[in-house]
Amino acid sequence: MRGILHAELSDGSIRSLPCDSVILAVGYKEDNSLYHEVEFDVPEIYLLGDAKKVNNIMYAVWDAFEVANHI
Ligand SMILES: Cc1cc2nc3c(=O)[nH]c(=O)nc-3n(C[C@H](O)[C@H](O)[C@H](O)COP(=O)(O)OP(=O)(O)OC[C@H]3O[C@@H](n4cnc5c(N)ncnc54)[C@H](O)[C@@H]3O)c2cc1C
Repeated sequence: MRGILHAELSDGSIRSLPCDSVILAVGYKEDNSLYHEVEFDVPEIYLLGDAKKVNNIMYAVWDAFEVANHI
């Protein structure tokens, strides 16, 4: 069934959009399960990027740089 999505924009205005469904891509959470699964089985392992802390591409790149720089 077609509905109307009312979205409040960053400037405070309201925009209404006709839609069939709405997907909210929010509330990211780290997935470090693989790291914890194998951390004691391999001699050297590093947790970095989104798996360590959900952030953005710059964080992931700098995190990887820092880790690689200290190996
Ligand atoms: C919808 C969305 C939009 C985004 N938009 C932006 C943006 O505009 N600007 C910005 O700076 N950041 C954005 N980000 C965040 C950015 O994408 C992440 O912060 C960044 O990609 C993290 O890099 P990463 O290398 O840590 O993880 P990822 O890029 O997620 O890479 C992890 C890789 O590991 C692989 N993998 C996972 N499990 C396994 C396994 N068991 N075996 C083998 N491979 C595996 C995955 O398939 C993936 O290829 C966005 C994120 C999302 C979800």
